[in-house]
Amino acid sequence: MTPLTENPFTLGVASGDPLPDSVVLWTRLAPRPYEPGNGLPADGAVDVQWELSRDASFRQLERTGTVPAPAVDNHTVHLDPSGLEPGRDYWYRFRVGRWISPIGHTRTAPAADHAVTGARARLGLVSCMQYDEGYYTALAHLAREDLDAVFFVGDYIYENAINAQAGARNYTATPLPAFFDHWTWNLTDYRLRYALGKSDPDLQAAHAAHPWYVTWDDHEVENNYAGDISQHDDPVDVFRARRAAAYRAYWENMPLREAQRPSGPDMPLYRRFSYGRLARFDILDTRQYRSDQAYGDGWKYPGPESEDPDRTLTGEAQERWLVDGFRDSTALWNVVVQQVAFCRRKNTTADRSRLSMDAWDGYPASRERVLAGADGAGLANLVVLSGDVHVHYAMDIKEDFDDPDSRTLGVEVVGTSVSSGFDGEERPDDWNLMLAANPHMKYYDGRRGYVVLTLDETRLQADFRTLSGVVTPGAPVTTSARFVSEAGAPGFSPA
Ligand code: FE
Ligand code: CA
Repeated sequence: MTPLTENPFTLGVASGDPLPDSVVLWTRLAPRPYEPGNGLPADGAVDVQWELSRDASFRQLERTGTVPAPAVDNHTVHLDPSGLEPGRDYWYRFRVGRWISPIGHTRTAPAADHAVTGARARLGLVSCMQYDEGYYTALAHLAREDLDAVFFVGDYIYENAINAQAGARNYTATPLPAFFDHWTWNLTDYRLRYALGKSDPDLQAAHAAHPWYVTWDDHEVENNYAGDISQHDDPVDVFRARRAAAYRAYWENMPLREAQRPSGPDMPLYRRFSYGRLARFDILDTRQYRSDQAYGDGWKYPGPESEDPDRTLTGEAQERWLVDGFRDSTALWNVVVQQVAFCRRKNTTADRSRLSMDAWDGYPASRERVLAGADGAGLANLVVLSGDVHVHYAMDIKEDFDDPDSRTLGVEVVGTSVSSGFDGEERPDDWNLMLAANPHMKYYDGRRGYVVLTLDETRLQADFRTLSGVVTPGAPVTTSARFVSEAGAPGFSPA
């Protein structure tokens, strides 16, 4: 190939899915990130040199090599070096010709038998990056946190049209190309939508700072889809083609292993990681295998349709895998990393209340089976992490949500959005009502941000990081609340 005359490292670097002896290292070559094909030849591959170092100045090189960035994978690299040291910091970078990428920092997971005593994990919880609803300022702050890893729980992109001004970002000096001003349907659309998001410097900083464990929600394909069923009931073959394009672009653009590579409209995304004996992470996919939302979706009264035990949020195979995993877990903290709100959320104090048919509330039999599985397994310290709703919540998972005196089976942390929903407000209109209607809801804040979770031998701490706004860049971050749940005695209380 003729030497590149333009910098191909316009979309940053990333690492993900750390294991004790490996971590995925990612980049995408795109001298022209807003053009189909990245401004590179349409076939073959570009050879990329890589370096992995034990220090930030690349003096103690652990490993070097060359990896292809194939055109068929839209010039992305998913390197999976083995034989690394557990629980160790590494730095990495890529090179093509005279062009060198930004430096990424990453960290392997602790060894599987790493003792709980003295162990600690600090984990970010992030979701929902609607590009045209605000700046990714939260991610600039996340990049500066001292973290072992980040969980991203869905809505990395949105499928809507984005105008030349990039909506709320109000790009007047350098408008976006007209290409983005239509909804995403095909592979080129989704690939370019990731290029747009990944051109954001705050997102690049957050990926370069920490390894991410990612999962998707709906907007990586289409709002509130369910399995093969699109929001507006498109013909199944049409929707499956859209899903295949979306899933392929997702895999290409995430720091995921070959094992997650999709085949047509199917992608094996749910997976499990150990973090020493301290924690286990079960990362779910609650979109690909779910039954259609009951009662036509939205907030509806529950009834025979939503309560049908044959309906499922996870699919049968994933549910069995999750519950079987509970049975052989020896971890102190069992963290279920997923998309949609798990605890019940009534929106009125009346006995009978509408519930969100898109969340676990619309699939109560699925929730009961998962909780029965955890309880039956004698699972230690269940923690559910969620996103989707663009607000912060701290909630106790109750055996019976109608009885505040029933057992608390675990805790749920819902992390707010990075930018979706514009600035938001500390107390949205339903703030009083939601807290009154749901005694297990200990905290609710409607602004943008992320959460930092700290797990150790004795407790889980959730620091809710919150921004004053995202429509103008540069807002500072504050810790708007801090909640703890003690190991062996689940239930949130303010710290
Ligand atoms: Fe969202
Ligand atoms: Ca969502």
